[in-house]
Amino acid sequence: MIDETHAAGRASWVTSANGHTMFPIQNLPLGVFSPDGGSARGGVAIGDRILDLGSALEAGLFSGAARDAAEAASGRTLNALLEAGPAARQALRRRVSDILDAKGADAAKIETIAGRLLHDADRCVIHLPARVGNFTDFFAGIHHAHTAGTISRPENPLMPNYKYVPVAYHSRASSVRVSGGLVRRPNGQRKPPEQDAPDFGPCRNLDYEMELGVWIGPGNEIGSPIPIAEASRHVAGFCLLNDWSARDIQAWESQPLGPFLAKSLSTFVSPWIVTTEALAPFRIAQPPRPAGDPAPLRHLNDAADQADGCFDIGLEVLLLTPKMRAAGAAPHVLSRSNASMLYWTVAQMVAHHTSNGCNLQPGDLFGSGTVSGTAPGSAGCLLEMTRGGRNPVSLPNGETRTYLLDGDEVVFRATCRRDGYASIGFGECRGTVTEALTLG
Ligand code: MN
Repeated sequence: MIDETHAAGRASWVTSANGHTMFPIQNLPLGVFSPDGGSARGGVAIGDRILDLGSALEAGLFSGAARDAAEAASGRTLNALLEAGPAARQALRRRVSDILDAKGADAAKIETIAGRLLHDADRCVIHLPARVGNFTDFFAGIHHAHTAGTISRPENPLMPNYKYVPVAYHSRASSVRVSGGLVRRPNGQRKPPEQDAPDFGPCRNLDYEMELGVWIGPGNEIGSPIPIAEASRHVAGFCLLNDWSARDIQAWESQPLGPFLAKSLSTFVSPWIVTTEALAPFRIAQPPRPAGDPAPLRHLNDAADQADGCFDIGLEVLLLTPKMRAAGAAPHVLSRSNASMLYWTVAQMVAHHTSNGCNLQPGDLFGSGTVSGTAPGSAGCLLEMTRGGRNPVSLPNGETRTYLLDGDEVVFRATCRRDGYASIGFGECRGTVTEALTLG
C-alpha cells in the first residue's frame, strides 16, 4: 500500500535525511542500538542519526495504536513489534514520518527537543534487531543453483524437485550476528579429491553468499499452515544476509544430509529491518517462468502474489583486501544483481515452510539463497564467480582471489530505485575474515 509516507516530496527537518542517503524519511527502518555508554533500545534510522523511540515516548509524541507500537519497538529486541503485525508497523510508520517531517504539524516544537530524540549513528553500537528463534536458508536463486550444480554435476545441474519445491534447510540461529564484526576462518574436515582420507585444519575455500534476509512478523500455530494469500501478512521486513560458507568443509560433510558446520560458523545480517511498508513502491510482478517450466502447485500459486510479490532491490558485493586498505583504496565492486532474480517469491517460501503445519515465530529469519544473475559480474558468491576456484578473480591492484584470504572484508549493499519515488537503501552488511584458531 503506497501512501503519504512514500511521497517523494516529503523532506525531514533532520537535514542528513535529505539528498544522498540510504535512510531518507521514506525509508524509516527499525533497529536496536546503544547510544554512547547507554543500554540497548529500539530506534529508527533517519539520515546519519537514529530516532530513540523510548525518548520519543517519554516526550509524549505518540498516542493510540502508534503509541502501543512504539512501546513494542522501544526495548532490547523488536520481537514484540514483529509479533504485532502490519497494522502496528503502519501506525508506527505514519507517526514517525509525521514526527520527522519538516512540514509536520509539530515540527517546530519537536525540533527544539531534537537533542533528546536523536543520536549520531556513528557514535552508537548497533545490535541484532531481534532474538532469532529459527533461521531457515532457502535456495531460491535459480542461477546460483544452476551454476553451483553445474560445477558438481555438469550433466544434471538442477535437481528434479527444484521447480516444484522452494528448497531450504534449517540452519543455525545462535550464530546469526549483526554486520560489522570479524568472522573467524573455521577449522574443519577437508578432503580434496587428490587426498584418500580427510584431515582437520583451516578452511581453504572460505566464501560469502549474498542473500536477501526476511524477518518474519506474526507466527502461526503449529498444525495451521499459512495460506499463500495470507503469507505477506507474516513478513515484517528485509535485510541483507551473508551466509558465510566453508566450501571445502561443505563438499565433504553435506552428503547426504546437507550443510552443517560449513554454514554455522557465522551468518551476518545488516542491522536495520527495512519494512515491507517501506518497500511497497518497489514491488513488481514475479517474472514469468521460462517456457516449459511447470506452474507452481496450487498451494504455492496465488494471482495477487504473482502480480506484485517480487521485489526490485539492487544488490552489490564489494571486497576490500588488506593491501587495498593499506593503500587507502575503496572497496572494489565484485558483482551486482537484483532480488528479482529469485525463482520463488517470499510468500511462496512462507506458504511452503508452513504447508506441513510447521510453526513460524516472530523474529524467525529466512535467507533467500544466493542471489545471482545470468550476466557476467552478477554472481552472488566466489564459488560461482571462480567456477569452483578454477578461474581467479582479478582486482584493480593486480591481486587475485579464488576464495577469501585472512584480512579480506566483504561488504554488501542494496538500493531500491523507482522513477517518481525516493531511493532507499538497506545499510551495509560487512564482515572481515580473521585467521583460524591454531590447532593444539
Ligand atoms: Mn545460503
